[in-house]
Amino acid sequence: MIVAKFGGSSLADYSCFMRVVDIVKSNEIPVVIVSAPGGKNKITDLLIAAYERWVECGNVECYEFALAQERIVELARCVGLNVDAHISSIKAAINGGAGFDYAVSRGEFLCAKILAYALGYSFVDAIDCVKLTMDGEIDLKSTLAHSAAIKLPCVIPGFYGKLPSGQIKLLPRGGSDLSGAAIAAALGSEYQKWTDVDGIFNGHGEVISNLSYDEAERLCYFGASVMHYKSMALLKSRGVRLAVKNTFSNSVGTEIWTRRCEGYALSRKEMFLYKSCRAERLNAIRQQGLKIAFQARLMGNEMALIDDCGFSPLALSRILSYDGIERVTVTATVGSTPPFAIQGDFLFRDEIGAICISKQ
Ligand code: ASP
Repeated sequence: MIVAKFGGSSLADYSCFMRVVDIVKSNEIPVVIVSAPGGKNKITDLLIAAYERWVECGNVECYEFALAQERIVELARCVGLNVDAHISSIKAAINGGAGFDYAVSRGEFLCAKILAYALGYSFVDAIDCVKLTMDGEIDLKSTLAHSAAIKLPCVIPGFYGKLPSGQIKLLPRGGSDLSGAAIAAALGSEYQKWTDVDGIFNGHGEVISNLSYDEAERLCYFGASVMHYKSMALLKSRGVRLAVKNTFSNSVGTEIWTRRCEGYALSRKEMFLYKSCRAERLNAIRQQGLKIAFQARLMGNEMALIDDCGFSPLALSRILSYDGIERVTVTATVGSTPPFAIQGDFLFRDEIGAICISKQ
């Protein structure tokens, strides 16, 4: 069985919606997870701003909410659905103190309602199947138990789930990936992530056809925005294969499973590169008009930071410890803070630990 997740850019407007309907129908996809509509004026951002207005003045009626409402109502109208009653009860609930997580999750909620209607699928609320631990992490065991009762075919909103206390709770930004991975892991299915890029790219701008879970996890942890990095552990734990696909093209995409792929990779949006990166490659990257934001080199069992990497000490220590470095000597300042030392028992394996590059 296929579980497919469509990101906000794949659901930005009516023509995107129709593409998604086409993909779901032609591939007979029985379980669909959605983000809130993205593009210009992301619905999630508007809802966050609207909630802040409610905090300030006790009324969610504001410019941002009106903009979000307009987009949602228009999408619904195009597929022949009236969501006025939903919008009224959402407004009343927010004004009545339903809270931040409830308010911000309504983008995914309404998007799932509209897509379910357009597909003729049932709507399954995430609070009925995506179960969280007390600290807001995915509780795979409980999600597994509750997913058995999902009525297929269905559309499920991403980005939130239910705490053991019964309260609704948001996942981190970009967390619909996690919702999709949790449902796919629970159902033991193939997981398709549909987005607006052809997959994960290598340093030559080619799509990498295969990556292992560990490689993909590392890339996403370091900033490749194509997936939420925590999705990988969920999928790996159940051996669920992940396919990254482009909603807007027929490219083969990237498959993530158990196979190892040596070398380095870039996602097109926030490019990231790691492992064995030699000077020629760095020059080639610079020639592509990319900026090297952070570079670190192994010297014996020490790591020297070469450039002003712009990461906060906390972020940097997390990155370095994740990469398993034995000792770190910092030779450059980090942002405006003075040089600092990181201590710890780390083991370093690669010639060059981590290089994060971004568009200039
Ligand atoms: N809509 C949420 C966000 O913008 C969650 C997601 O897209 O996965 O972060």
